[in-house]
Amino acid sequence: MLVDGFGRKVNYLRISVTERCNFRCQYCMPEKPFSWVPKENLLSFEDLFLFVKVAIDEGIDKIRITGGEPLLRYDLDKFIAMINKHKPGLDLALTTNGFLMKEYAQKLYDAGLKRANISLDSLKDSVAQQIAQKDVLKNVKEGIDEALHVGLKIKINMVPLKGINDVEVLDVLEYAKAKGISIRFIEYMENRFAKEKLQGLSAKEIESIVGTKYSFEEIGREGSSPAHMYRFEDGYKFGIIDPHNHDFCEDCNRIRLTAEGVLIPCLYFDEAMSIKEAVQKGDILEASLILKEVLKNKPEKNKWSNDDTNETSNRAFYETGG
Ligand code: SAM
Ligand code: SF4
Repeated sequence: MLVDGFGRKVNYLRISVTERCNFRCQYCMPEKPFSWVPKENLLSFEDLFLFVKVAIDEGIDKIRITGGEPLLRYDLDKFIAMINKHKPGLDLALTTNGFLMKEYAQKLYDAGLKRANISLDSLKDSVAQQIAQKDVLKNVKEGIDEALHVGLKIKINMVPLKGINDVEVLDVLEYAKAKGISIRFIEYMENRFAKEKLQGLSAKEIESIVGTKYSFEEIGREGSSPAHMYRFEDGYKFGIIDPHNHDFCEDCNRIRLTAEGVLIPCLYFDEAMSIKEAVQKGDILEASLILKEVLKNKPEKNKWSNDDTNETSNRAFYETGG
């Protein structure tokens, strides 16, 4: 079992397999970064898998693959199959913008993927295009349908932004509900890579919009998931992730690995260590020591919630996978 310096059990690894993306979401990567990490600096799936095996042996039992856009990484299904074959019961999930899901859903499911979170910020072509800066909606909706069709468990993520897609909170919720999919509304998190002047809806604002049409009860968090959950009278559940009011640090169970092999103990904390050399040498012992060292350095509280300046992280969401 992996336990950090504050006694928190860590069992969840998020792997960003690429920072590249085919969208330019205003809140995440509005412009193509000045330079991408060169492809030769990325860890191969074989190297990533070596670390995954170390992490699983040490107690990781939940892995989410994210990005950038993870479906841009060639042969992702083979990486998923490697993990699934190694530990068939593992909770293996993906976060994707859904654009390529129609093409890959079956392959991913066959490889052993169980769950996927798909981002859907609008049901209007023009608004989806405004946010992603690309004509995306048709592909994303087809991707959601295909993912459901092949048997993946799906959740939808929406980031409601004032004056942009805030009027669609109920529409997107009802779209998800009609398909039997739970939705997570995510408060926009300010970061220095996002387009200026964006303003997100707060959890309270989202609650009151949903409350104009539905009655629901708050049922709290489920496990270590950061989402606060709510239940309608008919049993349908939705969630809100509200980092502005809750820091989730107390029972944080996660660590993050970037595509370059940087192991990050906390999203809002600059310290991190690279496992790249260790895995490229095939040095399992060294990789395991680095993992433990990173856990030892996992801060009690993230920097964002620590100070009053609301100072944001130096890391981009597309680099760490959110
Ligand atoms: N490209 C994939 C996607 O969009 O789902 C995976 C990576 S993306 C960084 C993961 C999640 O982070 C998405 O649900 C996205 O909406 C969310 N996200 C990105 N930037 C955000 C921000 N500034 N505030 C809140 N959520 C954000
Ligand atoms: Fe790409 Fe996801 Fe970031 Fe949008 S939120 S730019 S889809 S990584």
